[in-house]
Amino acid sequence: MKYDDEDLLLLTPGPVELHPRNSQALSSPVRYHREKSFLDDLMFVTQSVSKLEGTDNLTVPITGSGTAAMDAAVSSMVRRSSKVISFINGVFSERLYNISRYYSDSVTPYYKEWGKAITREDVRSALEDKEYDFVTIVHNETSTGVLNPMDEIMEEINKRGLISIVDGVTSVGGDRVEVDKWGIDAMITASQKCLGGPPGMSFVTLSDRALSLIKKIDRGQSYYVDVRNYIKDGKIDIPFTTATPLVIALKEAINMIYEEGLDRRISRHRLMGKAVRSGAQAMGLDLLAERGYESNTVTAIKIPEKADQVVSQGKRYGVLFAGGQGKLAGTILRIGHMNIIGEREVLTGISVLDAVLTELGIEHSAGSGTLAAQQEFSMLASE
Ligand code: PLP
Repeated sequence: MKYDDEDLLLLTPGPVELHPRNSQALSSPVRYHREKSFLDDLMFVTQSVSKLEGTDNLTVPITGSGTAAMDAAVSSMVRRSSKVISFINGVFSERLYNISRYYSDSVTPYYKEWGKAITREDVRSALEDKEYDFVTIVHNETSTGVLNPMDEIMEEINKRGLISIVDGVTSVGGDRVEVDKWGIDAMITASQKCLGGPPGMSFVTLSDRALSLIKKIDRGQSYYVDVRNYIKDGKIDIPFTTATPLVIALKEAINMIYEEGLDRRISRHRLMGKAVRSGAQAMGLDLLAERGYESNTVTAIKIPEKADQVVSQGKRYGVLFAGGQGKLAGTILRIGHMNIIGEREVLTGISVLDAVLTELGIEHSAGSGTLAAQQEFSMLASE
């Protein structure tokens, strides 16, 4: 069978597989972005994003991918004279560092080996005896499959009163996010990951402290994504044309999140993550993420030298995995398990991986992966 590109099973860490209900919503007639019923739908989406992040804080919608929201958060608050510290343990935390350097003359990088988590101790030692205004960090590092422990990280950050800019692009809607409890000032996310929508919309959720800081400064350093242009009298007031079809499709995805229930959805993501990890390890493959900090939404598997071949060979079986990014290119394989990925997709993915490893002559324990993943599922079924 030859699978065409429109018919691949996306086991990528975003954009994710869409449920047919989303695709249908995506093809509904285009709406006018200033019409009240559309604005009601947009408010439903932004308020739902806040809710999924554990807060009632104001969420600003930006037409643009996740990076647009990263740009919005940083450029709207950071000044040239602001002192910023960026924790870096992968491609996306490095991107937040690079964005910060566009807008500030004083950005300090704190590097951690890729595959390792940023911990309380890292934050404590990086902030000790130093004066910073802002901190940037990624919750779930999609490039390495590492979930940073935000509860303890934020405790250290908040002891020192820094304004926090946190990327939750691959955690919001798929894993536990607690903006209020953790005390996050600017939380960033995007439509095409765990929220389950098509790519092209992103969001910044701002705390009262962030909003008052924004009020004190005349304007941001970028025009299109200056959040000031999106807020009037404390409410969202969209200045430009919104990508209305994306919002309508995302609304349907959010309805599906509510139908499943956030807790059940998070448990399902955790189970899929566990099954993928068990499957990979049973085949004798190593994970990149350090033990105890593995992401529940994306798994990075070490396949030195041949990772890209695994990706192209996987397509022959109708499955699209993702390769490594930046300095990890060619050395890891990433399997996304977000949104509607369930038992059927995980078992397919693991057995296709097994077949491809055999074809490429990569040493592994053939047949063991599917069995191990299956066991995770049957353990749950028998509980
Ligand atoms: N942050 C994280 C953690 C991501 O995984 C991604 C995309 O994969 C982004 C930011 C950037 O988002 P985009 O590619 O939508 O601009």
